[in-house]
Amino acid sequence: MQTYLVGGAVRDQLLGLKVKDRDWVVVGATPEQMKARGFKQVGADFPVFLHPKTGEEYALARTERKQGRGYHGFSVYSAPDVTLEEDLKRRDLTINAMAQAEDGQLVDPFDGHADLEHKTLRHVSEAFAEDPLRILRTARFAARLHPLGFSICPETMTLMRQMITDGELEHLVPERVWQEIQRALHENAPTVFFEVLRELGALGVLIPELEDATVFRAGVKALACIHHQQGNTAQRFAALLGAVPEELAITRAKSMKSPNDCRDMSRLVCRFMAELSRHPADSLSAEDTLELLDAADLWRRSERFDALLDTLACTLPEAQQSLLEQLHAAAGEATGVNPQDLLKQGFMGKELGEAIRNERLARITRVLNPSS
Ligand code: ATP
Ligand code: MG
Repeated sequence: MQTYLVGGAVRDQLLGLKVKDRDWVVVGATPEQMKARGFKQVGADFPVFLHPKTGEEYALARTERKQGRGYHGFSVYSAPDVTLEEDLKRRDLTINAMAQAEDGQLVDPFDGHADLEHKTLRHVSEAFAEDPLRILRTARFAARLHPLGFSICPETMTLMRQMITDGELEHLVPERVWQEIQRALHENAPTVFFEVLRELGALGVLIPELEDATVFRAGVKALACIHHQQGNTAQRFAALLGAVPEELAITRAKSMKSPNDCRDMSRLVCRFMAELSRHPADSLSAEDTLELLDAADLWRRSERFDALLDTLACTLPEAQQSLLEQLHAAAGEATGVNPQDLLKQGFMGKELGEAIRNERLARITRVLNPSS
């Protein structure tokens, strides 16, 4: 049996990038032989094993064939006679389809090394069309490697367009799409992911709200900004959808099965965007301000509120930026109201709630009109 380093580790090593995790392919072995060597099998259907010491993944060489139309899984064939080249052929991009033998020799039947040098993302074979997830992966690799000068070759763009025309994207389950989007939001140039999908005509299926040119431009601009600030996933997602009406953003976030923190941040950003864009700079009333702070549940979620303001700094037009300073100052004062103090003064029940509200309003009023 022979063992080869494959996929991302070979690619990243040749690119001079840090290798995150290493995947291995084993040729000429049976599951029984692997287990006898102390490997642990993971997954019942897949011939993938974990190394007893390093925990790294060792997969038996396999071929995959699509079953039926759409994304209904693959039939996997694995046996000692499956060659390394056959295993590499089922992979998505040529730069991901290289292997390295134990003696260091590169095995590269699909010219991945040449494509690395030409900074080209190219599909390995026509079998690429069997898995629509590869469209998202390719857009994500474009987003990751764009800063190094990489782009997708025209033939692969054409193939992906054809897949989209054939309705292949509709077969992807939301969980897998979200997983790719979530990763894409953290790639080196996250905006490239969405630009590629737009160019391919994939947004109509994936995030139709971003098809509108103005909404899209605002979204990628805000995403680039929050990426620059090293924002978290929720902030990145919310920035992208910042120009989408609140109701639509909520519906989209739900149907994409994005996690709750992403939905909440998106809802708040859209809500604040709508409210704040109604006001010319410096014209927030104390009541409006308190309503916004309530909507964001500042009282229990002050950290999230700070993240919200940072995101809004990326989504709001220049003319409204000063409103964020007002919100920040108002929040600082209003959170200082201590219900315990008011309890001691004898307020209870409904009256306590009103007293808290009045005290917060008074403080916000002082912040917003420092001279009066
Ligand atoms: P990363 O640095 O993100 O881990 P990677 O290239 O290692 O990048 P993985 O998702 O870890 O990507 O997958 C390992 C390898 O498996 C890839 O390099 C590719 O050869 C292959 N692969 C993964 N997913 C697919 C897919 N959907 N279709 C074809 N090949 C795939
Ligand atoms: Mg990997």
